[in-house]
Amino acid sequence: MLSTELQARQKAAVAAGIGTRGIYAERAENAELWDVNGKRYIDFAAGIAVNNTGHRHPKVMEAVRQQAEQFTHTCFHVAPYESYVRLAERLNAIVPTGAENRTMLVTTGAEAVENSVKIARAYTQRPGIIAFSGAFHGRTMLGMALTGKVNPYKKNFGPFPSEIFHAPFPNPFLGISVDDAIAGLESLFASDIDPQRIAAFIVEPVQGEGGFNVAPAEFLIRLREIADQHGILLICDEIQSGMARTGKMFGIEHSGVRPDLVTMAKGIAGGFPLSAVTGRAEVMNAAHTGGLGGTYAGNPLATAAANAVLDVIEEENLCARAAMIGERVTSRLRAIAQRQGMERLGDVRGLGAMIAFELVTDRASKNAAPQLTNRIVAEAEERGLILLACGTRANVVRLLPPLTIEEQTLGEALDILEASIEAAFSAVEV
Ligand code: PMP
Repeated sequence: MLSTELQARQKAAVAAGIGTRGIYAERAENAELWDVNGKRYIDFAAGIAVNNTGHRHPKVMEAVRQQAEQFTHTCFHVAPYESYVRLAERLNAIVPTGAENRTMLVTTGAEAVENSVKIARAYTQRPGIIAFSGAFHGRTMLGMALTGKVNPYKKNFGPFPSEIFHAPFPNPFLGISVDDAIAGLESLFASDIDPQRIAAFIVEPVQGEGGFNVAPAEFLIRLREIADQHGILLICDEIQSGMARTGKMFGIEHSGVRPDLVTMAKGIAGGFPLSAVTGRAEVMNAAHTGGLGGTYAGNPLATAAANAVLDVIEEENLCARAAMIGERVTSRLRAIAQRQGMERLGDVRGLGAMIAFELVTDRASKNAAPQLTNRIVAEAEERGLILLACGTRANVVRLLPPLTIEEQTLGEALDILEASIEAAFSAVEV
């Protein structure tokens, strides 16, 4: 079946609101994916930061196979199982709150975010939540309310839950300093809500969909101070930045700040639907028994996969590997950016293997160049490299190679990337 045929069937069968591109997957292995036309791609999307351990890692596949032979679903509320408990123990040991932890498992990132807010409200007995401009926290009603980007996520879908506020996220590239961001937060306290009514800040240590904007350590430190001053909790959404992606297990570790709650998903289970909230026991246990959970929450196939993923991250030193990939990719991109005629490559940034570059019309105005961005993604796709765009201005290309990518495949991908940037720069005027 060819992708053109599938595209027509999809159009006739699948809701138009679900955006897709024309790559219909047939099989995938580590950092490579083959489509139904037999075309091979190197996968720098990794299922949107999910396959940090690559497609079908043998250890993960074996764990899932063994679990499938025992049982695939009992519902943890009905007949609990060891792999859930083991995963909770392991997450409790690595999530850097600096305190004794507890964990709950659910299925999607948005669900983890929802539950972190439920728990924060139960603990603080306060309603308010402050998220940040450019944030992405999911597509449920609360997820959308917390998300700091209207189009395409929130448009037409309101009204949203109340008591959610947005403060500015620092953006050194666009001239929004940490002081500016903190001033924005203080002005929110003055004009919209008393800090004593705020249950939590929710922040991505590196914004994902928002454009791979790295939160400066100083910003996170000051958020922690303000949180402590007013009895506000700090929730770190590590759904995209977690699980070794940034060169440490969690993005927040780069700042040394201790969060109260951490949300995880995506990379946690190597392609199986699983998410988690881990945090200080005192906070996590504030929600009454029966108040949390779900039918599929902590599905046994997914918990088996996640336990194997944690083994692989450790055994294959994927944190160190992420840092190394990050250096190799960013130095290549920086070299390209310095060449004559490459001025529209405005910024190269990232943390570990969470890497992005921003396209602008020129380096003085820094106006966004979304057309150029789309063209780079298209040129790369043509040449067999899957890239994703992101950013509140739709002008950022993000690179999310599996952390297990072979050296040679990485080199090949970087050559394709460079050729795609060159082709797009000569094809698009601004
Ligand atoms: N938070 C962050 C930081 C994310 O990147 C995402 C997904 N892109 C979500 C939440 C939502 O996760 P899911 O799509 O699994 O609901």
